[in-house]
Amino acid sequence: MRTAILLLFCSLLITLSSQQSQAQRSPEQKLDLLTTETQYLDTANDKMLMLWWIPNTFWELSLAMDGSMGAEEIAEFMETLKPYIIVAVLDGNMSALGAVKYQEYNDIQQNIFILSGEEKVAALDRNKEKIDPSVSMLLEIFKPILTNMLGPMGSNMNFYLFPAELEGKLIVNEKKEDLFTIQYKEYRQEWELPFEAMLPLKACGQCDKKLSGRYNYCPYDGKKLVSKKELIPVALPKK
Ligand SMILES: [Zn+2]
Repeated sequence: MRTAILLLFCSLLITLSSQQSQAQRSPEQKLDLLTTETQYLDTANDKMLMLWWIPNTFWELSLAMDGSMGAEEIAEFMETLKPYIIVAVLDGNMSALGAVKYQEYNDIQQNIFILSGEEKVAALDRNKEKIDPSVSMLLEIFKPILTNMLGPMGSNMNFYLFPAELEGKLIVNEKKEDLFTIQYKEYRQEWELPFEAMLPLKACGQCDKKLSGRYNYCPYDGKKLVSKKELIPVALPKK
């Protein structure tokens, strides 16, 4: 398992930069867009803040792309991840001399919340709560990889686990129309689901351009975009 994940991130580094234009997004393009989509950055006024929701879709895509785990093994691993929502936070302030002071794990822990409706849900205390060992291990492996990739930024990235359910109800469903919000100090970042990365591209009937699955009209010529789903008849009349 450990080697599989290490290999996975080495291959990620290589593939993330390759971009091709195709009718539909390749798994690499999906993962690339998903990563961008799930990261909120604030680098204005000497701030270095990153809020990164690492959704289960991210792990699922990464593992499938890596290829060292079979479909069954991936499905099993996804079951392990299911009870958790993972959020990474980097919070630094740059001094006048250019040194960055980073917030400590525990300080961030006090201020990071996910929202269920308007209810604030706190991060699980990893010292007190029982966390699945595979999930703890995943985060332990991920951190040095990020450190290798990003240097001090990676080593000051902190991971928080939240419960995926509140009173038996999923806080966010990544595959359906839904909203997900992270609140950290004065920051409030909201995501609209499903992820753009996971929506099929739409083709414009007028200019034939491939467009984001989120668009309802072509931004070039205003033509209404019809998704494939709408072309399928809802029900066939019974004979
Ligand atoms: Zn068009």
